[in-house]
Order: sequence, then structure tokens, then C-alpha cells
Amino acid sequence: MKESVGTTGLILNESLLWEKGKKGRCGFSLPRRDVESCPLDQELTGKGPDFPDLSEVDVVRHYTRLSQWNFGVDTGMYPLGSCTMKYSPKTNGRQASLPGFATAHPLLPASLSQGALKMMFELEQYLAEITGMDATTLQPAAGAHGELTGILLIYAFHKKKGAQRSKIIVPDTAHGTNPASVALCGYRPVLVRSNKQGILSVEAVAEVMDEDTAGIMVTNPNTLGLFEENSQKIAEIVHAKGGLVYCDGANMNAVMGIVQMGKIGVDVMHLNLHKTFSTPHGGGGPGSGPVCVKSELEPFLPVPRVIEENGRYVLAEDYPESVGKVAAFHGSFGVMIKAYSYIRTMGPKNLKKASQLAVLNANYIKERLKGTLHLAYDRPCMHECVFSDEHQKAGKVTTLDMAKRLMDYGFHPPTVYFPLVVDGAIMVEPTETESKEEIDQFIEAFKAIVNEARQDPDRLHDAPKRCKVKRLDEVAAARKPCLAG
Ligand SMILES: *Cc1c(COP(=O)(O)O)cnc(C)c1O
Repeated sequence: MKESVGTTGLILNESLLWEKGKKGRCGFSLPRRDVESCPLDQELTGKGPDFPDLSEVDVVRHYTRLSQWNFGVDTGMYPLGSCTMKYSPKTNGRQASLPGFATAHPLLPASLSQGALKMMFELEQYLAEITGMDATTLQPAAGAHGELTGILLIYAFHKKKGAQRSKIIVPDTAHGTNPASVALCGYRPVLVRSNKQGILSVEAVAEVMDEDTAGIMVTNPNTLGLFEENSQKIAEIVHAKGGLVYCDGANMNAVMGIVQMGKIGVDVMHLNLHKTFSTPHGGGGPGSGPVCVKSELEPFLPVPRVIEENGRYVLAEDYPESVGKVAAFHGSFGVMIKAYSYIRTMGPKNLKKASQLAVLNANYIKERLKGTLHLAYDRPCMHECVFSDEHQKAGKVTTLDMAKRLMDYGFHPPTVYFPLVVDGAIMVEPTETESKEEIDQFIEAFKAIVNEARQDPDRLHDAPKRCKVKRLDEVAAARKPCLAG
């Protein structure tokens, strides 16, 4: 196997601090005592606290070693499709830690939070401009939460019209959160299949759209990394029957400054600030999933809303048709600052360029790997491309085997087995922040793995071999998790 940078070297084992501790070791020194000594909580509990005795070097090495077991965008390429794991410039994090922002209490009165409110007000406007919509709420804490909020707005819209509907159309390429959000709001998801080109056809939607359908929920670009070219005509069909169009905007990284969703018939959409607008994510958050709407849905947006009155920013609650609050306080404030900083440092031209490069990188990988791996849809893609294990099946090598082996070559695996419409899917999203050299290395690694699959398939079955943790028994890991270490 060809050695690649950063995959060899010391991976140091580390035990639990409790196993490391040795009675009498100490990692600090205190000033000389000038009061009576008194045992800490022995009198209260009858026994001392269960802390190990450790030296400073024990503690520093413990956490430094643990940090080296981690992998993130700061370590290397992380081509996890649908997740937009791009590098987030450090300046955005620095702005979020400015004391005035970082120490602001969410219950401060508006008169003492003018800077924070102004930032939120302007961010709402930028996001509305980028999406081509009229108004924004920043409250939702993630994409799925944005979906829930957006569907609640659709629900409120139909309720006000006096005729609630029972269904929402969701394509077979949708992220699992889409039908879940639909169901949580009391609607029944109606499946519509995408066509041979991997997108929705006008006819398929026309067939299921009726006057008991509240709307359609479409991810665009979709989870196959393909642009839904028929969106505008589909929107016309849905609107003609009184329905609304929801766009899952999680993949906005492909079309910033290029497509204004509001102009192609979208009524409501969410964005994933943590994906598209520069917040390191994964591992549970924090995220932010603002929802942008057309003016017909604005009255239903969550409260409080940040508005401008005579040059001052205030939190306004007086929206009687609002769906109410969807988050504690104002949402994920720190993520908003990073997005604001990202948008301001990039400017309109560079946001557009970022999307163009994200699309270019994905198409480069698609073209260079399509002779090696089976390409599910052989046509220009947007920010990600989807391969499968079709060609390796005969040799009994699976998508999982290849994904695990990629770790031996120093890359985080792509998204696997999603979207569900591609059997054994391998979904690669390089993002705009990877250089050509890094992408070439990834391509070479994949080619080498496919070669191994032909010559020595067994080698792949127990990959990864060079990582800290080897092939896991996934069933046992789910059934009997070991949480101790
Ligand atoms: C990531 C994603 C979501 C969910 O967003 P979260 O922030 O993880 O809740 C929804 N739809 C699509 C297409 C996504 O890629």
C-alpha cells in the first residue's frame, strides 16, 4: 500500500484517569494555609470524594492523547456527503468569542443588547437575500428543527384558511428527517419516486397532488447531489391546488449566490448554518436551522422577532398569528455570529465562488472515479456525487469494507448507504475548502482500495487495520454499548 501523509506514527494508548491515579500524587500547589485545616466533605458524606490523585503531566498527557484519537476537518479531508464538512475559518470563531457577544445574557433588555440584536436583524436579512425570500426566523436549533418550524408554518397557513389538509408530498430521495417532521405536525407523508435521472418529474407530482395535500417538501439540490430542474413547474402544480412548497435547504452550499429559491416557487425553506455558513459541526452540535419564508407566511413566524424601530432594535412579541416560540431565548446565538462573520468576510462574490468551487470539486471526483467505482447517475452533479459498490459485489467487497479501508489511508469515510434509492451508496462531498492535491490523494486512495478489492478482498473485510479502533462489531456496539472506555 502506498504510504500517505499522516497515517503512520504513534497512536498512544490511554487508560481512564481512575486507573492512572496513584495515591499521593498531586498536580497543583496551593499558597500556605493561614486558617485551621478542615477535611472537605468527610463530615458530610463520611468518605472523601472519589477523585484519582494525578500529577500535572498525567492530566496533560491524558487529554492530549485523547484529542489525538479524534478526527475532524482540522485534521484532514472529511468527505461526508450531505453534511458539508468544510473547513471553518478561525476568524469566525474568534468573533463569536468576543466578550460582548460571549458574555451577553439572553435576558438582557433590548436597550443593553443593541449590538447583538443588530447582528441578528442583519443576519436575517442576509439569509433572506441569499435565498430570495422575504423574512427569516433564527430560532430553530438545527436543520430538523427548522423543518419542524417550517411545517408548523404551513399548518398555521392552512388552518387560517379554515381548511386543514392531511398530507404532504415527500420524494424518495429525502433525508429521513423530512417525513419525520411531516408526521410530527400531524400530516401524512406521501412518497413520490424520482425518475431515471434522479430528480422529480412534473408528471409524478401532478399524479399525487390534490386538494387534501398541504404541500410538497423537496430537498434542492437533492440528496443525490442533483439539481431538481423541474422545481418551478412542480411549484406551479402545487400552488394551483392551493398547496405550499417547502425547500430543504441543507444543500445550499452548492447554490449560494446562484439560485434564489424564492424565485423558483419556494414558499418556505430552512438553512443549516452549521453546514453552509461555517460552524464546525458533528458530534452533536451546536447547530442552527433558520427558516426563511415568503411574505404570505411571515405573520406565522415564531416570536419574539427582532425589528427596527426609529434606528433602535427591539424584540417584538405582538404577532397574534405566530406559531409561538420554538426555542429557549433566541436560538443558537454563537452559531449566528459565526454565520454573520462568514457572510461579511466572504461577501456576495466569494459566497458564489465557494459554491462554484464546491460543485467543481465534486464533478472532478465524479469524473476521475467513475471508471473505478460505479456511478449511480452519470450526469453533471452539484456539490456531491454518489457512487456504489455495484462493481465490487461479485468479489464480495461491500461499500462498508471500502469505507472502513479508507481510514487506513488517512481519510474520513464518505456517507454510506444513503440516499436509500442507490443500493450500497457511497456519497462523496469534498466541499470547496479542499485543495486539488488533497482531492487527488483521496482519489488515489480510492483507486488503490478498489485494486485491493480485486486482488486481495480479505484485506478489506477486517479493515481498518491501522487505526486505533479496528473493525467494530456494529450489532454488539448497538446492543451492548461499553461506555466506560
Ligand atoms: C443535514 C440534513 C438535514 C438535517 O439537519 P440537522 O441540522 O442535522 O438537523 C436535513 N436534510 C438534509 C438534506 C440534510 O443534509
